[in-house]
Amino acid sequence: MLFLMYKMKSLVQSAVIITVLLILQSCNKNTNDHFFDDGVSSELAQWRSKAISKVVYTIRFSIPETISEPIGAQETIQFDLNSKSKPVLLDFRTPAGYLKSVKVNEKELVPSVKDNHIIIPKKLLVIGQNHISLIFRAGDQSLNRNDDYLYTLFVPDRACTAFPCFDQPDLKAYFNLTLDIPSSYEAIANNPVIKQDSSDGRKIITYGRGEKLPTYLFAFAAGKFQRIEKEVDGIKMEMLHRETRKDYIDRNADEIFRLHSKAIRWMEEYTGIKYPFPKFGFVVIPTFQYSGMEHPGAICYKASSLFLDESPAITEQLNRASLIAHETSHTWFGDLVTMKWFNDVWLKEVFAGFFADKIVKPAFPEINNDLRFLLSHFPSAYAVDRTRGSNPIIQQLDNMKDAGSLYGNIIYHKAPVVMRQLEQITTDEGLKKGLREYLKKFSYGNAEWDDLVQILESSSGKELKEWSNVWVREPGMPLIAPVTEKINNEYKIRFTETDPSGKNRHWPQMLDTKILTGTGSYAALLYPGDTKSGITLTSEPICIIPDTSGMSYGCFVTDSISLLYLKKNIASIADPLQRGILWVNLNEQMLNCKLDPVTLYSMMFSAIDSENDQLIQTYLTGRLAYIFLNKFDAGERNVYGVQLEELAWRKVSDNSAGSQRRTWFSLYRSIALTKEGLDRLYKIWQSGKLPGGVTLSEDEQCTTAFNLSLKDYPLADSVLSQQSRSIKNPDRLKKFAFIRPAVSTDESVRLKFFESLRDQANREREPWVIEALGYLHSPLRENSSEKYILPSLEMLEEIKATGDIFFPASWITTTLEGHHSDYAKQTVTDFLNSHPDYPENLKLKILQAADQLLK
Ligand SMILES: [Zn+2]
Repeated sequence: MLFLMYKMKSLVQSAVIITVLLILQSCNKNTNDHFFDDGVSSELAQWRSKAISKVVYTIRFSIPETISEPIGAQETIQFDLNSKSKPVLLDFRTPAGYLKSVKVNEKELVPSVKDNHIIIPKKLLVIGQNHISLIFRAGDQSLNRNDDYLYTLFVPDRACTAFPCFDQPDLKAYFNLTLDIPSSYEAIANNPVIKQDSSDGRKIITYGRGEKLPTYLFAFAAGKFQRIEKEVDGIKMEMLHRETRKDYIDRNADEIFRLHSKAIRWMEEYTGIKYPFPKFGFVVIPTFQYSGMEHPGAICYKASSLFLDESPAITEQLNRASLIAHETSHTWFGDLVTMKWFNDVWLKEVFAGFFADKIVKPAFPEINNDLRFLLSHFPSAYAVDRTRGSNPIIQQLDNMKDAGSLYGNIIYHKAPVVMRQLEQITTDEGLKKGLREYLKKFSYGNAEWDDLVQILESSSGKELKEWSNVWVREPGMPLIAPVTEKINNEYKIRFTETDPSGKNRHWPQMLDTKILTGTGSYAALLYPGDTKSGITLTSEPICIIPDTSGMSYGCFVTDSISLLYLKKNIASIADPLQRGILWVNLNEQMLNCKLDPVTLYSMMFSAIDSENDQLIQTYLTGRLAYIFLNKFDAGERNVYGVQLEELAWRKVSDNSAGSQRRTWFSLYRSIALTKEGLDRLYKIWQSGKLPGGVTLSEDEQCTTAFNLSLKDYPLADSVLSQQSRSIKNPDRLKKFAFIRPAVSTDESVRLKFFESLRDQANREREPWVIEALGYLHSPLRENSSEKYILPSLEMLEEIKATGDIFFPASWITTTLEGHHSDYAKQTVTDFLNSHPDYPENLKLKILQAADQLLK
């Protein structure tokens, strides 16, 4: 669009053309209006990426010892400009007065910020190389300042909240960083240190410029950290951490380094590209918002994701290995080749997840990987895709300021399912060849999904557009139901496919179907929606299992005859993957109101006793707790509670493995409601031990104490006080003190806690807020917490503006998921009706979160 307009201008010779141009310009005016918008509009991003190149940021941050003092900063931005058709806009989203001085090519400019941009007039700029020098106070919003440490988290568009920059992913730049920090601090950044000086109780660290990075990957952390350096398999690594428990370090550090080095070597082998950045390092942060973030050379992790308790469950070890593999894979997918615009953010996420699965698989031969894939992705993907608020994998993004709302279950959980289909279509080798070519072609640059589709089409010789259109560019999923027709003495079985939205879309996929009859079992590959695709049997089916491969995606309806069979026999189906698929399908039907919760609960309750697959056991314990707390009323909890407590306690006592005792104890802790049950919970908390001498970790003790309070146990206050006194680590003590009022037995304390969240400063530790909200809105306290729903909805826009990317969705999901009352339903419905112009992306998040409430 812009290119066309410039071309027209050079033709302005005749009156006729002038008239045409005027019309064209007036047509174009609307689209260009967004150039100066707050945030980074796609118009601004496109213009900048064409006009600006060779960007180098040279930045110095002076970090004071105390959190209350401002962080001073100086910066020079060097870049080449090839067009003066527009002013250059720098992004700088800080409170008024933070910008102190601006010099453009040695000429002073009055410092001013309008709609979060510093506008550099054309007359001060030159075609060719430009220098802009700035002195400013760094904005605190994404510097995550704590009393004695801070860390940056700039994804997706938050670099400009700290320093002026071109905050879009396709203007990659070199960063020359200098940190001026208290001498008691350690620091880490993307690149290696090239110089370090000390004077007057300060350390001045200068880092090398490394490779080009987008602003969202530029990172550093500084503070009272311990540093461990290690070389494994020829790879030098550094880790910064704040863990004070020596046994946690002794137990975990070597394994953490080993897992990183293994992931690096695996990725080098697969991609044919050596680790592409000048150093490898990571920082482990107690309050980190996500599990991990892939800044090259300075990956950030949440401490609890890496430092595991004593005798961790195999799934915890697997999750940690997967997380490390995920963040390390991003070095190639995301860091080396970056999406052009954030609508393709899913692409780096899906590949990181895809490779994480491949990297960790051989190290856990005891884990059924297909089952694990099923249980970790399908329920979470369905949780969004079944709702009225679902979104496609590729979403429209008009402005970077909305990029945070693109993240969610569809990106993290549906995309991996779709990617496995892609691998099936293109074959392992075809995919590998295509990905190698893609990474090589776009190294240190940017690419889009369609670039990859094009490469994969030629590397595999398969047509992918139609598949991509429905699976990647459309939201939702098909409803797939079996049909059995009796013709003469034969039974023909096929599947119908329905588009729940009524748009008649077709999702190409193949079902690996299994049919049981009184005389045997039959397999067939069937295509839903294709009336010609079916299997004909001579005896009547007693159970139809739509798909046994775990590759198919949709809402699978269980017919009444199959349900009857499964009620009696699901536990005796030999293949754990098939059992897992059936449980997930049945659970979906319960959530879609097609299966009564009591029926499913009873099936799960009878099956769990004999279930020996740990993944399914963990899944079933989670579902039993969910149904018991969320789908049962108080009367049903009375009826079923005693036997559920009895089962959970028996399993805590009988199991030999410590990790299994822990899994069962977490179920017991959440569902114990009887007096005897709570007395026992109290005794466990007092002793800190489970039967068999399994010691509970401090986190488990805190959770147990919170649960006693949540259930109004008479000694709850003294339990909480005693727990608080026993916590030695200052970071964990702060967390405990933060969450404590949310579980208080005193309603006025809880109200005060909720009111305190109106102040942004009290929402800064987002994981703590979410944990506290989980207790505040527990289904056990539904009545007293429904008054917080409306204010929580009213705060959502502000939360999106001030919080990190996952926070708005977590905030609203945690608020709504424990509520089931008509009042709660009405509150959400009225809120949506009274806000017809509410931002679409947030409305979708509300609809996703309110799925069960609005059903
Ligand atoms: Zn990721």
